[in-house]
Amino acid sequence: MAPSRTIVIANTAEPAEGLLTPAQRAALTGCPWHDVKAMLRDVGLRPTRQRMALGWILFAKGDRHITAEMLYEEASKAKVPVSLATVYNTLHQFTDVGLLRQVAVDGSKTYFDTNVSQHHHFFVEGENDLLDIPHTDVVVGKTPMPPEGYEVARIDVVVRLRKKGR
Ligand SMILES: [Zn+2]
Repeated sequence: MAPSRTIVIANTAEPAEGLLTPAQRAALTGCPWHDVKAMLRDVGLRPTRQRMALGWILFAKGDRHITAEMLYEEASKAKVPVSLATVYNTLHQFTDVGLLRQVAVDGSKTYFDTNVSQHHHFFVEGENDLLDIPHTDVVVGKTPMPPEGYEVARIDVVVRLRKKGR
């Protein structure tokens, strides 16, 4: 009998081509405006002025975590005439089609992440800052059995940080 051989396949975290996040794609082509339009069309959203403007603010600056209030403030500074309600609606529409990922830190704060690939987060208490943790840095040892008729869709880990010595 031949000895058994173990084949090791390297597991890299590198995203395959075509699976780039919108922000990464914008960085590659250097034309975020054109990309936002294509991106909206790809997911079946009509590229309205407001979606275009908010999409450009969201995705033209690399991967980031942003709340509706933060985006509203940036839009106001950029002289984009939108209401906070429109900002909320747009963020939820973008999330529904997979352009954004929602990260709930606590009851009152919801962040939207332009990086929709699998990863976890540090949350810096007091500074309200979110930092990415690579997916491979967190090992979830035991997961609970989901109730009858459900399956686990995703596990999000938020590791809360505070400054030492206070
Ligand atoms: Zn993130």
